[in-house]
Amino acid sequence: MTKTEILNWLLETNPTTLDTLWEKADRVRQENVGDAVHLRGLIEISNYCRRNCGYCGLNRSNHPLERYRMTRDEILTCASQAAQFGYGTVVMQAGEDPGITGEWMADLIRELKTQSNLAITLSLGERARGELRRWRAAGADRYLLRFETSNAALYDQIHPPLGKIPSDRLDLLKYLRDLGYETGSGVMIGIPGQTYSDLADDILLFRELDLDMIGVGPFIAHPSTPIGQSASNGYGDFSVQVPATEAMTYKVLALARLACPRSNIPSTTALATLNTLSGREQGLSRGANVVMPNLTPPHYRQKYEIYPGKACLSETALQCNQCLENRILSMGRSIGTGPGDSPNRRLRRSPVE
Ligand code: SAH
Repeated sequence: MTKTEILNWLLETNPTTLDTLWEKADRVRQENVGDAVHLRGLIEISNYCRRNCGYCGLNRSNHPLERYRMTRDEILTCASQAAQFGYGTVVMQAGEDPGITGEWMADLIRELKTQSNLAITLSLGERARGELRRWRAAGADRYLLRFETSNAALYDQIHPPLGKIPSDRLDLLKYLRDLGYETGSGVMIGIPGQTYSDLADDILLFRELDLDMIGVGPFIAHPSTPIGQSASNGYGDFSVQVPATEAMTYKVLALARLACPRSNIPSTTALATLNTLSGREQGLSRGANVVMPNLTPPHYRQKYEIYPGKACLSETALQCNQCLENRILSMGRSIGTGPGDSPNRRLRRSPVE
């Protein structure tokens, strides 16, 4: 796919023409990763964050937000629930929280690995290389770190560096991959200031990075963030500005599948937030093969408000589990079993292993 072809799809509005994109993405998904939908149990382990990202409700300047950090026992309880529900993976996500130390996390990973054979995915932001190495050695399998946008100037604007330390997520992604993590990244769709050309470059970069996992979702303005406050004042040039819509999200999902046929791609909660009725299902029939049921105890979940109005906010882990399984089965798809590794990573490594 050339950049022009990607751009043409991003700008396409004819529903009949778009049907051919959905069908192609669904076919490529089926041929490369099959019909099984893998369930990843999401545990939002802390909402403390040292960063000031312009888009995220957990930014450190959001003082009214009450902060929490789950205890080791609380996390282990969630993980055993994941195993009971038959999930093959837990994803531990947090703000960039220095209170989660390298050592504490490594101990937790080791404990989880002795208690179960769950695959462990981390999504803890930009951490020191020594910590990433240590967590991998302790048994962590995968790492998610979205590059958010491939437009470097826009990235710097929305994701300020930490003091003098530059924020180079692309470099970190390469490092994670060299450590042997299954590596995931992705972007938000419709960040104020993001153009169609930027978004086409994002999709080309998914391919260049040879990602094992790709997460994309619409940008949803949070009133307690710098962007959320300016977005309501008509931020951006709307002739080139990508809209943060459901339709645009499906296009990016489908194009990500065509660009990276063997990647694991979730139908995200941000998408389900724009269409609670059928967003998940439409994502799954337009390229996605993963969903991430939430295991975070509801009283913490409400405080993990990266964007407002999040779908599934007050459901228990059991309700999330049943709702998502029903949705998958009623589409005629099956529930994935085992860890659900990315065939992309498996095939990349096999010649050298
Ligand atoms: N601290 C971790 C996890 C952040 S939350 C990290 O920085 O990697 C995971 C993802 O949520 C982010 O990477 C971002 O792409 C998305 N996100 C954050 N704020 C959002 C918003 N307002 N709307 C939509 N998605 C958002």
